[in-house]
Amino acid sequence: MEISIDIAAVRRLIRTEHSQACVEIEARGPVAALAASQLRHDERLAGAADADTLACKDGCSWCCHFTVDVRAAEAFRIVDFVTGHFSPQQRAALQQEVFANSAEVAKLSEIERMQRTVKCPFLDGGRCTIYAVRPQTCRNYHATDSAGCRQSFEQPQNMDIDPEFAPLVYQAGGAHIEAFSKAMAEAGYDVAAYELNMALGAVWRQPEARLRFEAKQKPFTSVAGEDVPSEFMDDDEDEEDR
Ligand code: SF4
Repeated sequence: MEISIDIAAVRRLIRTEHSQACVEIEARGPVAALAASQLRHDERLAGAADADTLACKDGCSWCCHFTVDVRAAEAFRIVDFVTGHFSPQQRAALQQEVFANSAEVAKLSEIERMQRTVKCPFLDGGRCTIYAVRPQTCRNYHATDSAGCRQSFEQPQNMDIDPEFAPLVYQAGGAHIEAFSKAMAEAGYDVAAYELNMALGAVWRQPEARLRFEAKQKPFTSVAGEDVPSEFMDDDEDEEDR
């Protein structure tokens, strides 16, 4: 689906979020700053002018079977939540599923991952068990017709499916994430994107990963991250040059 971007709105959002995130990362550290940023993220999506066109609703989980990418700060926030809210039995079952998924997706190419519908380990009975701390990718829901999401789930090999989505919600979510990531990168923290299961597996298997992250080093030694190309930041920088 082709969309036109409201450049002025994106520019305002990036500047506001970036400056707020810079202050919070410096004052509270990256994981606490992420928590605050994610609350603003949700508010921005809910406040987009086309938010009332969204089909995403409680119990709809087609998209929870596709690849989810996280930044390291998100993986640490999720593990903190699991430690504080899951029983030992729930944690053990979760880790087993994460390690199994991690071993499976590690063997796949990026395109194979997109075409393999692996249930998210946090999806239980159609609901997200970590909803309050779900990754930014999951917060960026923007589908206006769940039929397209269902079709993508049922035909994962079909790369021509192009679900309808709400453009103002989409641009608000994307710009918000880029602004926060820019602030994290400027503060020296790792902002590479990691596959969710592989990142969580690395956090649990490498206790020193968090120390490395807080020391502004690459946190994981066994999992490769991907640089995420900017979709919205160039618009912001073009304007700053003028
Ligand atoms: S973290 Fe939650 S919202 Fe995201 S894919 Fe998993 S179950 Fe779905």
